[in-house]
Amino acid sequence: MAPCGLPGGADLDTVLASLDERTREIAIATIAKSLPSYTAKLNLWTSFCAFVGSRPLEPSEATVLRYVSLFRNGRSAEGYISALRWLHDFCRRSVAGWDTRSLAQLLRGAVKLSTPTRKAPSIGWGVVRKLVARATQGQDHDFALMCVLASVFLFRVPDELLPLRFSEPAQHSAVAVEDPHGPTPTLRIQLRSRKNLPTGVVLRRGCLCPRDKVMCAPHAFMRWLARTSRPPHGRLFRMSPTSFTRLLRIYLRRAEVPEPESYSSHGFRRGTAQAMVARDAPLSHILTAGNWRSAAFVEYLDKQAVDERAVLHLLMDDDDVEEDNLEPARLPPPRREPVSTVVTSGSPVAVAAVAARPPAKRSWEPPFAYKRIENFFPPP
Ligand SMILES: [Zn+2]
Repeated sequence: MAPCGLPGGADLDTVLASLDERTREIAIATIAKSLPSYTAKLNLWTSFCAFVGSRPLEPSEATVLRYVSLFRNGRSAEGYISALRWLHDFCRRSVAGWDTRSLAQLLRGAVKLSTPTRKAPSIGWGVVRKLVARATQGQDHDFALMCVLASVFLFRVPDELLPLRFSEPAQHSAVAVEDPHGPTPTLRIQLRSRKNLPTGVVLRRGCLCPRDKVMCAPHAFMRWLARTSRPPHGRLFRMSPTSFTRLLRIYLRRAEVPEPESYSSHGFRRGTAQAMVARDAPLSHILTAGNWRSAAFVEYLDKQAVDERAVLHLLMDDDDVEEDNLEPARLPPPRREPVSTVVTSGSPVAVAAVAARPPAKRSWEPPFAYKRIENFFPPP
């Protein structure tokens, strides 16, 4: 029977190929919001396979059990195994040989063995001001600015703050001061994508002077430019997430904040959100300021019958878990072939790895997300 609606003249092979392409796009849509995370997870899997000499698809049960035992955090292991299941579904391969009761048992045990994640304490603006003062004293202007931006923009430090770029919105971001010497100086940061906002976002923060010169984003940025004489192209900062956390703890100790080792970079985002809650900001403003968005959450808002603080805490905890899961597990370097020989071009795994890259951006108009966050922070 001839397929219905074949375009005139198109041969069957062309139609089938385009249907297959469409099938792939639809399958990838199932992980559209987590593409970077899935890519990282699948890369780890292929590295592990190269290391132990296993095939990435339909591996043995023993290989997958060993893989699980790599993880210190059982919940992370569950996430990596989910990615492996996704890969098999995508490549239409069976999981029956490894997704067994033994694997389920091991994952249950791994979760029980995991030490519960301690929530990083939040870093309120009072502490941020102390950090900025200490960093500025030590001529560490980069760290001073990073603290202000992390707080005021509620940035996720590892993937939003640290990779900031002056003017490469297609690559990651663009940072500029609007109306620098006029009545309304504003720091504008355009991000190519943000968790929950794959099409990107433009964030703006206005001047807080004179009531809060330290936390005024546009002026902190202009001061930093003047003090560092940084050429305005490429990356703003050269720092890894690990170095950032180490430095944060050093400055917390100098500022005489108790238990500096318990802090992490999540603290800035939590601190600003919690301070906004304390100042009775409407939950919708807080969520927009931090770009938290989830279907479940919108439903909460509609019901108007929930404890807003409880919802915010839930979302912030969710933030922490997801960021923790992005941390790569520790793995020794491969001792056999490099990954590229395993992921050969055209193999199903290669197709999935390529597919799991974020799609090229079409031209887009970023949504306008300017919220007057400064309204919630009167002078200290
Ligand atoms: Zn200002």
